[in-house]
Amino acid sequence: MIDLPARIAAILPDLTAWRHTLHAHPELAYEEHRTAAFVAERLRGFGLEVHTGIAGTGVVGVLKGTGNGPAIGLRCDMDALPITEATGLPYASTHAGRMHACGHDGHTTMLLGAARILAETGPGGATCVFIFQPAEENEGGARTMVADGLFDTFPVDAVYGMHNWPGLPVGHMAVHGGPVMAAFDTFEAIVEGKGSHGAMPHQGIDPIAISAQLVNAWQTIVSRAVSPTEAAVVSVTQIHAGDTWNVIPDQVVLRGTTRCFLPAVRDLIEAQMATRADLICRAFGATCRFSYTRRYPATLNTPAEAETAKAAAVAAVGTEAVATDLAPSMGAEDFAFMLEQRPGAYVWLGNGPVEDGRHLHSARYDFNDAALPHGVRYLVELARRAGGS
Ligand SMILES: [Zn+2]
Ligand SMILES: [Zn+2]
Repeated sequence: MIDLPARIAAILPDLTAWRHTLHAHPELAYEEHRTAAFVAERLRGFGLEVHTGIAGTGVVGVLKGTGNGPAIGLRCDMDALPITEATGLPYASTHAGRMHACGHDGHTTMLLGAARILAETGPGGATCVFIFQPAEENEGGARTMVADGLFDTFPVDAVYGMHNWPGLPVGHMAVHGGPVMAAFDTFEAIVEGKGSHGAMPHQGIDPIAISAQLVNAWQTIVSRAVSPTEAAVVSVTQIHAGDTWNVIPDQVVLRGTTRCFLPAVRDLIEAQMATRADLICRAFGATCRFSYTRRYPATLNTPAEAETAKAAAVAAVGTEAVATDLAPSMGAEDFAFMLEQRPGAYVWLGNGPVEDGRHLHSARYDFNDAALPHGVRYLVELARRAGGS
């Protein structure tokens, strides 16, 4: 029997050093060349079969199981964000305007750590497919990997993902039985009125007054059209119009994002936003060009794999430290594209307190190194359980 905590403790200095070098060299979506090379070199060093160039900068490592056991996909993300780091850490970003502000440096490190330990100790029955994904932030690298034939080349029976979670104590995890992260869409409405003198609005068609109606009408989709028992968000995040005090402009551009969990709610939001934009603008004599873009589907854990994830989490951090009753997040996650193809589960790993603005995507955020051993332990326990060992 392997003393797993001792094995993880033995490699922890390496893992911490890897995390810090990844943190110091953040790369944006599809530009993760240094990161991918770093990952591939380590995986080869562990003796894994390594495939590079999947979805551009994606890397896959394969560790063959014994016999005809199942295959399990373990996925992490590698990309950083266009943020100027403000942590002042000794290993802070050396790439101007780039920062690992979502902890993907930690995710990459933990998956490398799990690959190393499973390579050393044997994966048991399961064949492990380690998926290092590019471009999680905004660009949907998971979708590109799937489109590139990820699951045709590497057929897995289930796929698992993990994200660090600020606000959840270190050494704790959260597992959801169904929805974890919301569907994420974007919209744009261009309201065309007719500009006029600010003192003589009756001579034109004021697109700003109309846009105010539009914002209110869209908010009542959530409060009046979606069932009160379902979650949904419509956020107008940009309003662009006008240049001076006394001129009513011709045009207003509104943009924003919507979130929800159920496909039926998603359909309803899209249809209602378009209808309300059209009818309200026409009521005032204006026109509206409305576009709605579906970005990421909802991240929905499948029941059996959520149970497997929970068992692995309990083995990693103990029953008391595994929350199964946390509300899902209205944030989004492109791992959803993998879960559309295969059953699986996406879990949260405690990253500790959020004091001093240490939220995800903050310039003062840092992945918590104290979470590294817990994440590695979880991934190894998961692989063992999936293989029935
Ligand atoms: Zn992020
Ligand atoms: Zn992230």
